[in-house]
Amino acid sequence: MQHTLKEVFSAQEIQERVKNLGKEISQIYKDEPLVLICVLKGAFLFFSDLVRAIDCPHEIDFVRLASYGSSDTSSHSIAFTKDIEINVEDKHVLIVEDIVDTGLTMEFLLKQLSVRKAKSVKIATLLSKKARREKAIPIDFVGFYIQDGFLVGYGLDYAEKYRYLPNICEVEL
Ligand code: 5GP
Repeated sequence: MQHTLKEVFSAQEIQERVKNLGKEISQIYKDEPLVLICVLKGAFLFFSDLVRAIDCPHEIDFVRLASYGSSDTSSHSIAFTKDIEINVEDKHVLIVEDIVDTGLTMEFLLKQLSVRKAKSVKIATLLSKKARREKAIPIDFVGFYIQDGFLVGYGLDYAEKYRYLPNICEVEL
């Protein structure tokens, strides 16, 4: 089944914003030891563009998370299905996420990484969706703020469809 998609951010808008985020991030970390962690699968395109827009040296790694149960805080649990492989001790860590919605996923990852003796742990997200936020987690770099709606494209999926799109669209469900 094909859905009706309405463009929210064009490919050009995204590319310009990601380039600027890269500049911002480069100015913060300069020559400090830095590891960028991509949250699979949704952040894969954002991550690949962002690392090329950052001109300070860094390492990269990947995590994949699975969430179980309902999105209700009390019955929701999150676990790694793929953990990082790099040792982050005494290095700055920048988590690269596609979209922060309730904040539960990022709260979990921040907790997990904070016990690994990183120098600092910050978050860069392409999209921040405020309407359903439950956890007031600090987000250091935001591509775009959005209100609500289900978005696909530029890495984001709906049942594994539409990740390949170069732009971001809202699905009419
Ligand atoms: P959170 O734990 O912040 O509620 O969940 C964040 C995750 O939910 C994102 O990494 C993403 O996988 C998924 N998500 C939240 N909103 C959307 C959306 O509008 N579109 C898509 N494709 N995924 C979303």
